[in-house]
Amino acid sequence: MLDTISAHIRVVPDFPKPGIQFRDLTPLLADGPAFQATTAALAERAGEFDMIAGVEARGFLFGAALAQLTGRGLVIVRKPGKLPAATIGHDYDLEYGTDRLELHADAFAPGTRVLLVDDVLATGGTAEAAVTLLRKAGGMVERAMFVMELDGLPGAARLRAMGVEPVSLLHYP
Ligand code: 5GP
Repeated sequence: MLDTISAHIRVVPDFPKPGIQFRDLTPLLADGPAFQATTAALAERAGEFDMIAGVEARGFLFGAALAQLTGRGLVIVRKPGKLPAATIGHDYDLEYGTDRLELHADAFAPGTRVLLVDDVLATGGTAEAAVTLLRKAGGMVERAMFVMELDGLPGAARLRAMGVEPVSLLHYP
């Protein structure tokens, strides 16, 4: 099953900047059985949770699919200024500058067990910020799931340091 998934991920050199080997998951989304296999593999490893949080933008796709398969609701973690109702936000540092993620303030009740979902875990900056935001809103986040993880980067260690278990279907050096 994991072979089918990895066969549908392609490397695009020099995107979005020279020197970056971007792992493109759009061929995986475009293949019905491979997309289904991905969702099933995530569900097998998801553990116990009440709701899913998908991170903009590709986390929405896998998060929504997993929410459908498991019968759980979906919360969306967005870039600033996109959500219409009252939000809470978290600003975080990037290599150059800062960024911000937002969540509807009433997205879930305090104490809800939230499973974070995104496509790729790289440096962990995005996931760390999303977990901080979900916790600020009262969510209990114990696990974060990714279709793939880049093992050469500190993403998994950063999540473990905050008490979150990273679970990735595929690992690349
Ligand atoms: P991080 O914050 O862990 O450095 O980067 C993870 C975020 O950037 C995720 O939201 C992910 O969608 C995006 N990302 C970083 N590198 C890649 C990549 O090679 N492929 C894809 N599809 N997304 C990436």
